[in-house]
Amino acid sequence: MKVSPSATNALSAKVSELKKAGIKVHNFAAGDPVLPNHPAILQAVADALKEGMSPYAPVAGLPELRTAAAKWMNSRYGSHFKFEETVVTCGGKFALYGALQVLLEPGDEVLVPAPYWVSYPELVRLSGGVAKIIHTTEVTGWKFTAEELLAHITPKTRVLILNNACNPTAALYKREEIEAILAAAEQAGIFVLSDEVYSEIVYGPQPFVSCAQFPKHFERVIVVESCSKNFAMAGWRVGFAFGPRKIIEAIIALQSQSTTGTSFLSQKAALGALLHANEVSTYVREAMRKRRDVFMKHIHEKNVPESGLYFFKKIDGSSLKFCEKILEEKQVAIVPGIAFGCEGYVRFVYSDTEEEIIEGLSAFFSKPA
Ligand code: PLP
Repeated sequence: MKVSPSATNALSAKVSELKKAGIKVHNFAAGDPVLPNHPAILQAVADALKEGMSPYAPVAGLPELRTAAAKWMNSRYGSHFKFEETVVTCGGKFALYGALQVLLEPGDEVLVPAPYWVSYPELVRLSGGVAKIIHTTEVTGWKFTAEELLAHITPKTRVLILNNACNPTAALYKREEIEAILAAAEQAGIFVLSDEVYSEIVYGPQPFVSCAQFPKHFERVIVVESCSKNFAMAGWRVGFAFGPRKIIEAIIALQSQSTTGTSFLSQKAALGALLHANEVSTYVREAMRKRRDVFMKHIHEKNVPESGLYFFKKIDGSSLKFCEKILEEKQVAIVPGIAFGCEGYVRFVYSDTEEEIIEGLSAFFSKPA
């Protein structure tokens, strides 16, 4: 089976290529917080290094990390995830991949609201499924409703992927909207794969609402979390899936035959973050809030994103051509909306330093030489 590389990874590779050739590129394409690791993370890793051991970690993750992750979820959302309902994965991406692998039979349909995170359609395809897109628009705040969900159900529908808070649109679902979506999923008899990897990067005033807050729907919900964004640890590759024991056990079995889980040292780092979770996520959120504000001041747009690391900007014409032209003429890297299933928009990331943001936007608005 041929797999297409992720559009954002492909673009980052192009940016690296230009950088290697000595050309300065303003990178608004790579989606991770550019921040030093919080000291709690570094301390945990230094302690682990002192022990001098690097054994295989248990395939499901270090027991203390699984316990800390379940506790983190339960304390924030009043959920009741047990140890056995928690698995540590190689980033949120493998949690999504694993869940789709274990839930789907060939030909099953997966509802994917667009604009979507670039990897969803390929992840569905890799699991033998067929992505069915629910289109949303800026007019409705890039959100779909329970009614729209039900209108897309067929006998083959198996899963809905819900991305809240959303990359690339920053859409943030309210409690009653999630409640209605979960009720519709129950009515349709489908699973909800809730990608919540930006849960801690929510600036307010609207609070983040997790699907984990609805214990009534526990049996049909898998929540995906990650240290990449919430704790600015993308390179460590640690994520989690929380859900019904049978599904989590199947993901663990899949890991045992594929990745053997994520690295021992990375798990120690993640434990360091989780044991100081509020402190670390506040550090990340407040740094990202400042960068968002600097970005908004210089992009001259009205709609301020309330979550995540992204600004989805309306443009005229083909988004791919727009991005190619901007990269070529102004050395500014942004991602075309078409990569997210939505033409007529481009995505900016505002997670780099304030100086880089200001310099990059000044290049973006400059007249071509
Ligand atoms: N889900 C969304 C919406 C994302 O934007 C990303 C990364 O960009 C991921 C999942 C995967 O993140 P990771 O595998 O680094 O945890």
